[in-house]
Amino acid sequence: MDYLQGLNPEQKAAVLQIKGPVMIIAGAGSGKTRVITYRVAHLIRSGVDSFNILVLTFTNKAAKEMRERINHIVGPEAKNIWMGTFHSVFAKILRVEADKIGYPNNFTIYDTDDSKSVIRAILKEMQLDDKLYNQNFVYNRISAAKNNLVGWQEYQNNDQIQADDFSSGRGMLGKIYETYAQRCFRAGAMDFDDLLFKTNELLKNHPDVLNKYQHKFKYLMVDEYQDTNFSQYLIVKRLAAVSENLCVVGDDAQSIYAFRGANIQNILNFEKDYPDLKVFKLEQNYRSTQNIVNVANSIIANNKDQLKKNVFSEKDSGDKIKVMRAFSDNEEGKMVAEAIMQQRSTNGLKWKAFAILYRTNAQSRSMEEALRKLNIPYKIYGGMSFYQRKEIKDLIAYFRLTFNPNDEEALKRVINYPKRGIGDTTVDRIIVAADRNQLTPFEVILQAPRYVEKAPASLMAFATMIQSFQVITKTLSAYDAALHIAQHSGLLKDLYDDKSVEGLNRYENIQELLNGIKEFSEREDIEEKGLEIFMQDVALLTNDDNDKNKDADTVSLMTIHSSKGLEFPQVHIVGLEENLFPSQMSLNSRSDLEEERRLFYVAITRAEYKLTISYATSRFKFGTLINCEPSRFLDEIDAKYLELDFSAKPAPAQSASFGDERSAWSRKPADAFSKPKPATAPPIKTTSILAKAHVPSAGFKPADTANLQVGMQVEHERFGFGKVISLEGNKPDVKATIFFKEIGQKQLLLKFAKLSIV
Ligand code: ATP
Ligand code: MG
Repeated sequence: MDYLQGLNPEQKAAVLQIKGPVMIIAGAGSGKTRVITYRVAHLIRSGVDSFNILVLTFTNKAAKEMRERINHIVGPEAKNIWMGTFHSVFAKILRVEADKIGYPNNFTIYDTDDSKSVIRAILKEMQLDDKLYNQNFVYNRISAAKNNLVGWQEYQNNDQIQADDFSSGRGMLGKIYETYAQRCFRAGAMDFDDLLFKTNELLKNHPDVLNKYQHKFKYLMVDEYQDTNFSQYLIVKRLAAVSENLCVVGDDAQSIYAFRGANIQNILNFEKDYPDLKVFKLEQNYRSTQNIVNVANSIIANNKDQLKKNVFSEKDSGDKIKVMRAFSDNEEGKMVAEAIMQQRSTNGLKWKAFAILYRTNAQSRSMEEALRKLNIPYKIYGGMSFYQRKEIKDLIAYFRLTFNPNDEEALKRVINYPKRGIGDTTVDRIIVAADRNQLTPFEVILQAPRYVEKAPASLMAFATMIQSFQVITKTLSAYDAALHIAQHSGLLKDLYDDKSVEGLNRYENIQELLNGIKEFSEREDIEEKGLEIFMQDVALLTNDDNDKNKDADTVSLMTIHSSKGLEFPQVHIVGLEENLFPSQMSLNSRSDLEEERRLFYVAITRAEYKLTISYATSRFKFGTLINCEPSRFLDEIDAKYLELDFSAKPAPAQSASFGDERSAWSRKPADAFSKPKPATAPPIKTTSILAKAHVPSAGFKPADTANLQVGMQVEHERFGFGKVISLEGNKPDVKATIFFKEIGQKQLLLKFAKLSIV
């Protein structure tokens, strides 16, 4: 068992304990994820069929990385393991079983935007006050109910819930929930929470289905167990009920999703559910230096709600934790970018050794600006997904409608885009007619003259077009079908005709989507590769999942929430200010504040050997400059681990002695540290936060079509370096086929491509 050599005795014991329930609740960086990885490898080496293993991870990216590591040990068997997030794994199962609970197997997955749009429509129809019934509030309320497995009927019949709603003046929530659930059902759509809610319904009401999966998944493992909600907990419990071969790993100190319904109770329940549970303790942190581990421990010790753990590191004590003060958010960005630049050259590091972590997405702006100024390549993780861009969603709405014409959100999105003379009033009439006649909107459109007064001819033409798409997708490959739909819907032409910079960008994005579909239809490792299969889980993809440039050497920027489970040699945590971190919303209750503190703990423990924390004494918020007070979390760190960098000017008139400085950062804004800024501060600059890597270059000149020749080396703004393989077509529509080092072959329309000859 050579392959188990890289484990300490306790980790090894947990790996070898393959039968029965196992729980590992241990501190950050102690090898929990490593234990799962090795455990799966060990199961397969011990003769367990790889098809019988289910591993639930927190992100698809984590699953992918784990699979790669297992593949190193056991080879191609690794590809048969069921591994992924709760949502992706159970969406896959629901695709097979949906008919049992009355859904079509080609159900649509509504993303958050779709769900909110349904809610908005309902609120409008019911003529409710949009302050009391704010769409986000309603969405969260329904989401919380589903994650606690409270269906709309139960919601309406539960005295406590009803009393709460009525006393807050929101007595209609139950009715909204009912209408929402029915609308989704009629549209053949499930929202994100349904993927878990309906899985529970399926497993509860269909013993034959439950039995099938209980026997399929003989071994179950769950990473980041502290962040599962009740709905997830119950799915795992049901599936593991026969084999009881269930191993969960997590860290209560890293539970950071209570706002989404994650529940520490799931850890405590586990002990009750399985009295013969084997518990393993991992105490040694292999990731970070002693200083970093000690700082993390000293922070988390301020929380009352926590399981006792002793986490230690045997690495060097390492550098002290640096605290940098800036006078504005832009200056903070500059200091961070310069520090990274300096560390990189002094220590000969790669850019990817660095991560910048922040509490809120908005903070990335000042960081991005500063990094760009110094030509530092970076990538934002967890930003807006490629699949959330408007033009991509528009084309995908056509695909969705093709496979599920009842998909109401997709229908509303494109029925009059590109413009075909179908106005809002007509759409409203269709929806009303559908409600009245118990039909779906698409069924109404098919027989429009019967139901809609003055039905425009374009309505029927639209329906006929969608039906023609249904026919062609049966015979054409995914790529040909997608291209056909993009062209015949008029979408491609609409974007092509828009010659603005944004328009060209959108056109390029569609081209990128089509290229992605082409790659998909040429994949050799999967059998079914129709457009329908490509479409199935698009709603669940984030921009990190299909990251083609994952090995690119870039600094990583992300929120602390998305940094869970990851590690970087050097980490910057920025924006340590009251009302930002801890966030303003967390200041009302101890439990919320404790969650913020756990978030800080997560951030600190991502760092391997160098951690820098920074704060600004003023910052733009919603376009106005406000004064900021340093975070209380700074005071909670034992001073002996800290090194201060207050070099930014204007320097305060205080003595530089350590004790003075430490108390100084907790003074009120009126003191010398955070002088109110003049009202004439520069206006906020808005920079679009793009979810793609920014790789600086000497400056992109559009390639001169006349000069470009086969065999030339080129650089593309996003795809990197490549070589021209062929050129076809006439000016100005010359298309170049280019082989890019990072991502392979692509065909680009030269007039749009951001290429330079190198
Ligand atoms: P987190 O709580 O942040 O999710 P974790 O407990 O899952 O952390 P891992 O990510 O599995 O910890 O491990 C942290 C780091 O320590 C990884 O780089 C891992 O490879 C390394 N590591 C873990 N155990 C050992 C070991 N026995 N020997 C050497 N390195 C180890
Ligand atoms: Mg982990």
